Amino acid sequence: MQPFVTIESFGPATVPTIYGIGRNYPEHVKELGNKAPDGEPVLFLKAPASLRPLGSGTLAFPGETFHHEAELVLRIGQTVPVGTKTEGWTVVDALGLGLDLTRREKQSELKAKGLPWALAKSFAGSAVVSPLIRLTDCNERQTFRFKLIVNDQLRQSGDTSQMIFDVPTIIDFLASFNTLLPGDLIFTGTPSGVGPISSGDKFTLELEDPHRHWSGIL
Ligand code: MG
Repeated sequence: MQPFVTIESFGPATVPTIYGIGRNYPEHVKELGNKAPDGEPVLFLKAPASLRPLGSGTLAFPGETFHHEAELVLRIGQTVPVGTKTEGWTVVDALGLGLDLTRREKQSELKAKGLPWALAKSFAGSAVVSPLIRLTDCNERQTFRFKLIVNDQLRQSGDTSQMIFDVPTIIDFLASFNTLLPGDLIFTGTPSGVGPISSGDKFTLELEDPHRHWSGIL
């Protein structure tokens, strides 16, 4: 069995839905001056067409302020009918790291108007995903630490034990109103340290255990 599922083996046609969880790390909620989620996760969607492997493509709207948001990304491995209480991790078959690229100025404008975030979150190339690792190759604690390094400078450090909503809670939440399908991806939220990116920046996403790192130029 191959230890890695590579991005080439799945693409927009095999990713039914990309779910994004917002405001899931307390320090990140503070840095953007947001309110903490009230009882349930903050959810948005990215179109499958926004998917791209780390290190390819160009920014869709040159001249705008894009922010990087480094996140743990999960892949659902089986159908989870709506209303099913899962055991969380049992329905995840692979994971990796991703960048939830965000048009921050557009998002602020939409938030101020009380409008959905789609224009700020779902655009060509906005869902950057590393190659995925099979869950069976991961540590049994099922907590993960990761880093984002931009141009050799540490920008973000994440520890999933700090998530406001943990992975089983996120999955049960999503399955409470929708059937989850094999190939669905979940961006689980970003830790603090988000900031602007520029075309030509070198990004390295690093997972601590199992140790993996992936680099690319945006
Ligand atoms: Mg995010």
